[in-house]
Amino acid sequence: GKVLVTGCNGYIAVWVVKSLLEEGFAVRGTVRRESAIPYLKELFSQYGDKFEVVVVPDITKEHAFDEAVKGVDAIEHTASPFHFKASHPSEMVDPAVAGTLSVLKSALRHGAAVRRVVVTSSVAAVLTPDPEHVRHFSEADWNEHSVREIEKGSAASPGDMYLASKTLAERAAWQFVAENKGAVGFDLVTICPPYVYGPFLHEVKNPESLNTSALEFFNSVVKGDKTKEQLTTISGAWVDVRDVATAHVRALQKEAAGGERIITSAGSWVWQDFVSVGHKLDASLPAGDESYDPSKARYMAFFDNSKSKRVLDLEYHTLEECTEDSLAQFKQLGWY
Ligand code: NDP
Repeated sequence: GKVLVTGCNGYIAVWVVKSLLEEGFAVRGTVRRESAIPYLKELFSQYGDKFEVVVVPDITKEHAFDEAVKGVDAIEHTASPFHFKASHPSEMVDPAVAGTLSVLKSALRHGAAVRRVVVTSSVAAVLTPDPEHVRHFSEADWNEHSVREIEKGSAASPGDMYLASKTLAERAAWQFVAENKGAVGFDLVTICPPYVYGPFLHEVKNPESLNTSALEFFNSVVKGDKTKEQLTTISGAWVDVRDVATAHVRALQKEAAGGERIITSAGSWVWQDFVSVGHKLDASLPAGDESYDPSKARYMAFFDNSKSKRVLDLEYHTLEECTEDSLAQFKQLGWY
């Protein structure tokens, strides 16, 4: 089969493309800049014409994907802004929602062969931000909080602007499929990863141009930019990028994934967990808070990953493996 991967030059997407090609799929990727193509062509040159890239300059335009969806059997929609620098919710929400709907509309009208659409959502669409309380989340949860917060417009936090963009985009996808039941020849799967770390394959010239999650990892573990307090109080959940890619491929391979929303979380963390592993591997890296006792760690958010194991047979890289492989790559590049 042939799979369309939107935003195929991104951190997660390049791993998705690689995993698809390794599993025997042909891939048509989309990018919004011509200049993103040569690196990708080179990276996947061994796959010959099983890998092609097309330019879709503005994913928010209706009909944007009309040509790109022709002849593909499935779609992996990953393109969406991920950063915490927006000054107005529309900067995040418009491309996230209109981009998702534009892919789905093109698939409905011109993607006669499309049987499944996988949307890269996020635990951003699941969680309720709450730094005060320990919270447990599953696929049944939706982040209504951030959607309410962005009614404040520019006064909303950039965090909520991103979180709301993912919530609204995923909800729009489920709504579209429900409203067009009978007319669409495909079903929907949404993949909800937490913070994604691990080695990168996409084009990154220097640490500063890493994507949002990997840059934060680099700054925390290599640069040591967190205070001792932050290292043990900032808490989230994480997953290795290679497992996110596997989840995207299995979402196509496993019939039972159709219609499912699936959290792909390897576990919860505080920054010191990664810092401790890094320092143990290489004493030149920051030690952070050496009084940290992992058995007393205060993890604030837990995500149920049992569906990912049951439906996708997903196995997760450990925090140690993810950290070691990331650091090996940074070292090899001379970044520390
Ligand atoms: P990257 O920033 O590496 O990739 C984002 C991709 O989306 C790029 O191809 C980018 O294109 C494209 N994109 C961004 N904004 C727009 C826009 N306005 N119009 C068209 N294309 C756009 O990020 P990730 O790989 O980390 O993220 C990929 C997906 O995974 C996103 O949907 C994100 O929300 C989701 N995700 C990421 C997590 C993480 O921790 N990394 C966690 C959970 C979900 P260009 O290169 O041209 O800017």
